[in-house]
Amino acid sequence: MIETIQRLEAAARALEPDPAQRGAWLDAVRAYAEGFLDELEVLPTYTRDAGQSSKLDLSITERPGRLGALLENLHETVDGPGINPASGGHLGYIPGGGVFPSALGDFLADVTNRFSGISFASPGAARMEAGLVRWMAGLVGYPEGAGGDLTSGGSIANLSAVVTAREAMEIRARDIPDACVYMTSQAHHCVDRALNVAGLGECRLRRVPVDDRYRMDAGALERSIGSDRRAGLRPWLIVASAGTTDTGAVDPLEAVAAIAERERLWLHLDAAYGGFFMLCEEGRAVLKGLQRSDSMVMDPHKGLFLPYGTGAVLVRDVRLLAAAHAYQADYMQDARGGAGAAEYSPADLSAELSRPFRGLRLWLPLKLFGLAAFRAALAEKIWLARYFHARLSELDGFEPGPTPELSVVTYRYVPKRGDADAFNRALLQAVHDDGHIFVSSTRLDGHFTLRLAVLNFRTHRAEIDYLLDLLVREAARLAAA
Ligand SMILES: *Cc1c(COP(=O)(O)O)cnc(C)c1O
Repeated sequence: MIETIQRLEAAARALEPDPAQRGAWLDAVRAYAEGFLDELEVLPTYTRDAGQSSKLDLSITERPGRLGALLENLHETVDGPGINPASGGHLGYIPGGGVFPSALGDFLADVTNRFSGISFASPGAARMEAGLVRWMAGLVGYPEGAGGDLTSGGSIANLSAVVTAREAMEIRARDIPDACVYMTSQAHHCVDRALNVAGLGECRLRRVPVDDRYRMDAGALERSIGSDRRAGLRPWLIVASAGTTDTGAVDPLEAVAAIAERERLWLHLDAAYGGFFMLCEEGRAVLKGLQRSDSMVMDPHKGLFLPYGTGAVLVRDVRLLAAAHAYQADYMQDARGGAGAAEYSPADLSAELSRPFRGLRLWLPLKLFGLAAFRAALAEKIWLARYFHARLSELDGFEPGPTPELSVVTYRYVPKRGDADAFNRALLQAVHDDGHIFVSSTRLDGHFTLRLAVLNFRTHRAEIDYLLDLLVREAARLAAA
């Protein structure tokens, strides 16, 4: 038996590289990361996959590989084709970028592998996450007693909030056919998905009309709730957006909150994109009323420029979040109660147990850069969107959408003849073919519409000017064709 164990140990020790080996790997990874960042300025933001990704080395074999060869393969197959979200030219969907200190935080969190889910296992990690959540709750104006959880992203955070609302409002299976949910057509599709996943897909979904800037019509919301009540139905949830993904529209938060309070409905705010604009004056001016919601979602991997993998759910009364996620497990008995019992652990506030230590990738950049840099970057993004909108308004043929409230601008070109949708599709194609800038499109009022979303911290005026020049040039070429 001892011999067997010794033989296995000798082979298993391969999983514990010595300092020289670790140092060599670190040097190679560091060189790769530096090379990647150096190339950001010159490489395209969008590269069509001409078969590069199919060369990914997927052979999982018994023998150890060489890091040098693996990094070369990674460079060609993964870091080549597709969108480069780290690039300042990424102006599509909702970008973020990926601030460098988060990578260092992830590295340290992975080396130390602290178990952040339970305070007993890592009081420091749990304290860091609770502290960061409290900071966010304070930023949006929630009272003492608010709390939340760092999630993998906004979709899961929205799911967590919907489940909390369901439990807090005591919506049981038998209530669902009569239970009414209110949101606009502009709500993020992950809210529909969250309702389905939470078993609420058979609620009556009311699409509240929007105004000419795609914001919820509060009067229509109130009338819809009233007529549902008169019909004997059960209104219970309003989902409003503080910055829609499509157009950046902010629903009239104060008016919607007043209705939710008067009608005693749960108000959930999806501020995944817009929430962190609370850090700048320009943002605070349009986000008035956030603090009147019952729950909220915001995405550090958007508004704080973190790499993908960090969202947050905040609940005005943290006890309701805990109640919706309560669990019992005998094998966890050592981890419950005791000194920290008054403070919730992340595992008390989510459906996760084991999870990445998300706090460190958030704490490190906030501490290393300080808030002033984030405030400036967020205000700069708002001004860049306004600048793009103003410049575009002066250009012949271009039709900009509403003046941006935050940092999304919709626009299209209206050709003198021919099909406008086909023209704008071709224009988008031309921008993608150029590759320097990546923008995306949507459909608004039935029209194919281009959009610009400025939220990568590496995006500055040079990128916006490049895009404007490119649009003018390509639109002229297409119009002449
Ligand atoms: C991005 C976004 C989501 C989804 O968040 P993920 O982090 O991508 O899961 C939800 N709502 C809004 C408004 C968003 O912009």
